Amino acid sequence: MKDMNELVEMFRERGYRITPQRQCVFKLLQGNTSHPSAESIYREARKEMSSLSLQTVYRTLAELVSLGELIPVDLGTGTVRFDPSVEVPHHHLVCRSCGKVSDLFADLRPPDMPEGYAQDFEVSSTEIVFRGICKACMTDGEDLGEREHRFSSK
Ligand SMILES: [Zn+2]
Ligand SMILES: [Zn+2]
Repeated sequence: MKDMNELVEMFRERGYRITPQRQCVFKLLQGNTSHPSAESIYREARKEMSSLSLQTVYRTLAELVSLGELIPVDLGTGTVRFDPSVEVPHHHLVCRSCGKVSDLFADLRPPDMPEGYAQDFEVSSTEIVFRGICKACMTDGEDLGEREHRFSSK
């Protein structure tokens, strides 16, 4: 994603309105690696700007997507998440316990197309989703395990 000034410039060129509310959304997305949902952006932005509506967040995100500055990703976490990291194609690690999404920058060899399909479909990109348990959830599990152990040893 481009920096604040470049985004403002792009929006002006396209005739999109630039308001403090939209700039607040831009700011929250800069360098954001959490792959936020529209709702989580809204919750964060409201802390700074109570006049912001969820509708404005949706519209601003849609405009950023149409400009290629944001990629919507549906990773099966229940909500569409937004990825401002558009420069380098990458894969994702998805925690099935808390829904945390992390980037995986690795040059993985894409799987071969099954014979018979390769002729009929030209692949332009491949994204791989790794599902599992993030470190924080793993640690939580350990704590729980210890606690249970303590109770049961009484
Ligand atoms: Zn987790
Ligand atoms: Zn990502």
